[in-house]
Amino acid sequence: MPVRTGEDRFDGGPIGRRRFSSDLLLHGGPERYGARVACVFLEHPASLEHDTAAYRGQDVVMHPEHARRIVAIERELSARDWLGFERLQAPAVDRSVLGAVHPEPYVASIERLCASGGGYLDMDTVVSERSFEAALHSAGGAVRMVELLLDGEASAAFSSHRPPGHHALPSQAMGFCLFNNIAVAARYALDARHLERVMILDWDVHHGNGTNQIFHASKQVLFVSIHQSPLFPGTGAADDVGEGEGIGFTVNLPVPAGSGDEVWVSLVEHVVVPLAGAFEPQLVLISAGYDAHRDDPLADCSVTDEGFAAMAHAVAGACEGLAAPVGGVLEGGYALASLGRSVAATLQAFSRPTGDPGSASAPKTGVAPIAREARDRLAQWWPQLGQRNARPG
Ligand SMILES: [Zn+2]
Repeated sequence: MPVRTGEDRFDGGPIGRRRFSSDLLLHGGPERYGARVACVFLEHPASLEHDTAAYRGQDVVMHPEHARRIVAIERELSARDWLGFERLQAPAVDRSVLGAVHPEPYVASIERLCASGGGYLDMDTVVSERSFEAALHSAGGAVRMVELLLDGEASAAFSSHRPPGHHALPSQAMGFCLFNNIAVAARYALDARHLERVMILDWDVHHGNGTNQIFHASKQVLFVSIHQSPLFPGTGAADDVGEGEGIGFTVNLPVPAGSGDEVWVSLVEHVVVPLAGAFEPQLVLISAGYDAHRDDPLADCSVTDEGFAAMAHAVAGACEGLAAPVGGVLEGGYALASLGRSVAATLQAFSRPTGDPGSASAPKTGVAPIAREARDRLAQWWPQLGQRNARPG
């Protein structure tokens, strides 16, 4: 893979204020960044080539999950000088790494459909000729991010690709998702890097049903999802807590339509962060969707830019305390300007986990009733969340 050149541009300008060797990109032997451990932003131009529009004669019907989402993110970050993040081109995922979650016949079926020009996988999920390539890099970005985090080459990172992943089941695409990028990355951390405890926080407004199912019986992955309910895909009830030895390691936190910062941030500060403290993850991955934003057209929650900043600060602060690296993987988010600003808020929190001097990472919210109920419910598996340990709110 050649090092990117000047004509190989994203909207925000040429990738890489530093240059990486092709050996680095292909074989994952990152050069040292020097004394400072970098925050890394992973991207790939194939994300722009996954064409989801429908063409009916002269008419083009735009799909909400389109390439301008990536452009909007990069434009916002470019305007902020990338918030100090190093930009790195994501490799395509290794097929054997992908195969740990998605059986080869399924992968091959997506490859064939794309090679034949594309088509619909369900009513919402469509592929074009370049979608397979985009999906390989979308999963590859998440895996590369985990490599960088576990090798200590990045203190925090964000994988900004499309298609998104958290609805994808092992052998079924759905909800705009082809491969479950975050599940592939978590599986890689467990299998290839021998981690024992990985936490996935899914704050996309839709339930991450694919990730939920993939790790349903695992006690190695603590999967926590905050999502609007009822809403697509209809899964993620509070009483879905996992199965077998994974019982208690699936935590679903459904919230009603209209929920805003008070609910979402309180759930992160008073349920997710204590869960992290109890589980002691070696790696924290965030299914970072931004469709809970009040501007988003696909759902009815009302989280603000500041809400996403607060959630990211709470998680990043907890990770710093636990010495667990944190990485975000882009999922949904369909209001372009809000998406860009909220991703930027996330990156800012990742790079400064405790915020401004003096602000520390103390909870900014009280314990909302929904968070108190969740703590009570979860205390049977996580006694640290019991009532007597709850902060007054
Ligand atoms: Zn979503």
